[in-house]
Amino acid sequence: MTIDFVVEARARHADMVAKRRDFHQHPELAFEETRTAGRIADVLRGLDMEVRTGVGKTGVVGLLEGAAGGPTVMVRADMDALPVCEENTTGYISTTPGKMHACGHDGHVAVALAVADILATHRDAIAGRVKFVFQPAEEVGNGAVAMIEDGVLDDPAPDVSLGLHFWSGLETGKLAIGAGPVMAGADAFKIHIQGAGGHGAIPEETRDPVVAAAQIIMALQTVVNRNVSPLDTAVLSVCKVAAGDAFNVIPDTVDMAGTFRTYRKEVRDLLVARAETIITGIAQAMGCQASLELMPSTIPLVNDEVVTKQVLRAVEAALGTDRLAHPVRTMGAEDMSYFLDRVPGCFFFVGSGNAEKGTNYPHHHPRFDLDEDAFPVAAAAMAAAVAQYVMRADRAG
Ligand SMILES: [Zn+2]
Ligand SMILES: [Zn+2]
Repeated sequence: MTIDFVVEARARHADMVAKRRDFHQHPELAFEETRTAGRIADVLRGLDMEVRTGVGKTGVVGLLEGAAGGPTVMVRADMDALPVCEENTTGYISTTPGKMHACGHDGHVAVALAVADILATHRDAIAGRVKFVFQPAEEVGNGAVAMIEDGVLDDPAPDVSLGLHFWSGLETGKLAIGAGPVMAGADAFKIHIQGAGGHGAIPEETRDPVVAAAQIIMALQTVVNRNVSPLDTAVLSVCKVAAGDAFNVIPDTVDMAGTFRTYRKEVRDLLVARAETIITGIAQAMGCQASLELMPSTIPLVNDEVVTKQVLRAVEAALGTDRLAHPVRTMGAEDMSYFLDRVPGCFFFVGSGNAEKGTNYPHHHPRFDLDEDAFPVAAAAMAAAVAQYVMRADRAG
């Protein structure tokens, strides 16, 4: 049996639009997605799935058991809105001032529920399991980790992880599916230098943390140009330096903060390791002590080569090659990266930008909106991508 996922998705277009508009009217911020989670759980239970709620505080997991054994495929959709005041004038704008689905996560949820419905309808043809993961708090970067710590990747452990993001910079209906790094990892860091202050005229009785800080800042600049390969991309910026109160007092401490941006985990790890060595080594040489503290951050989002090829092949078969655009690469960050770091997978972009409809504002803009005509394309692509792993007829070859 071969299923026409385009037909299946189109049949659910109106339902996706209705659900999405409901979520859009009721946006909820990170870790507060209780109404959203409740609606999702109701839909999944209606599809006869085993449902877990409260995973990573407000996350929801639905497990679709196939008729026979096989691999487990995870489909992830994020649920949270942003603290943005909506400026659209559509009939379905946010009913909560100051909160808005300005990134399209309302659409991600509606599409994932349609995919769940399509696959549940064909449960008899499924050999394996599909784990639908509705994640909180993507916008603050720690919802995925919260779910992982709550065991979302256990029992059963997924073999493949898939996700999508609507993209206003891409024309409606186009798909951007690329292997390797597609979104940047972002790390914020703090450096604390402990010296021993004293009189500005008697430096020999102090251990001056200001001079140590100056040396550390300059030495950190060598990491990108001496340790990172010229063929890789990396940024290391010290953006904040705080020390001292008076012109004639050497302070006890210096505090600094900055950011690392990278496309590859290895480069990020290299930056962290080199920064740590430089910071502690120079401080010690200057008679001070220093520490590097990494703040909650997002690792680079890297698509698995093999899975991406498989997804491309399945999407092409279901939707044709003319849908495929050049892969999107962006410095934006996404915590789907944490799932992809543990489970090989693919995160792809579905175009929702339509200048005539005004749905091409950037993500997070108060006038951001989704072109709802992109929904069936997204649902068909995701359903086809999942089906190749778990549907008997579609798994061959
Ligand atoms: Zn966003
Ligand atoms: Zn987003």
